[in-house]
Amino acid sequence: MARYTGSVCRQCRREACKLFLKGDKCYTEKCPVTKRHTPPGQHGQSRKKQSEYGIQLREKQKVRRAYGILESQFHKYYETAANMRGVTGENMLSLIERRLDNVAYRLNFGESRAMARQMVNHGHIRVNGRKVDIASYQVKAGDVISVKETSREIPFFATLKEQGEKRTVPTWLELDCETLSGTVKKLPAREDIDLSISEHLIVEFYSR
Ligand code: SF4
Repeated sequence: MARYTGSVCRQCRREACKLFLKGDKCYTEKCPVTKRHTPPGQHGQSRKKQSEYGIQLREKQKVRRAYGILESQFHKYYETAANMRGVTGENMLSLIERRLDNVAYRLNFGESRAMARQMVNHGHIRVNGRKVDIASYQVKAGDVISVKETSREIPFFATLKEQGEKRTVPTWLELDCETLSGTVKKLPAREDIDLSISEHLIVEFYSR
């Protein structure tokens, strides 16, 4: 599968906000977004007034990059959301939030979404006791997401177990650090998604 192989911090600088793609570094002063306030590239310093299209495009790219989703798949989330009942933008964010790699990240099974995705792809994650190695798998209310028993000895998971209650998870999930498993209490609603997103701009972008 095609994937982005350039500098991940560059993506944050391009979107002028923290997308939290690098784990612990994102919370330190070493974060390039904190140190440099200009977009990357030779012409990053030159200020240009953004068109309406440009603003919509940037919002779409911001969300796509934060969740590490390629354009074709991201577009499919929009199309699915547009055919669902309710508000298209909110439906789309809920669908993206329900991806297994994101849920693993939210449960602290990876320092970043990229790391959580690798945990899924490498077969360390179970859904209701069964191996699921598809990062885009959609979790449902009541699903139990856990770390494979033999993988719990991996230093990263052993540390997570030790840190126990210090790790927080969103209110729609519940984490049991002792068994390294999490339960989907309910499907994520718009207010459960903490990234600053103007989803109506993304809907406008695709409805053009
Ligand atoms: Fe890099 Fe993380 Fe800062 Fe983004 S938030 S620029 S990924 S350190």
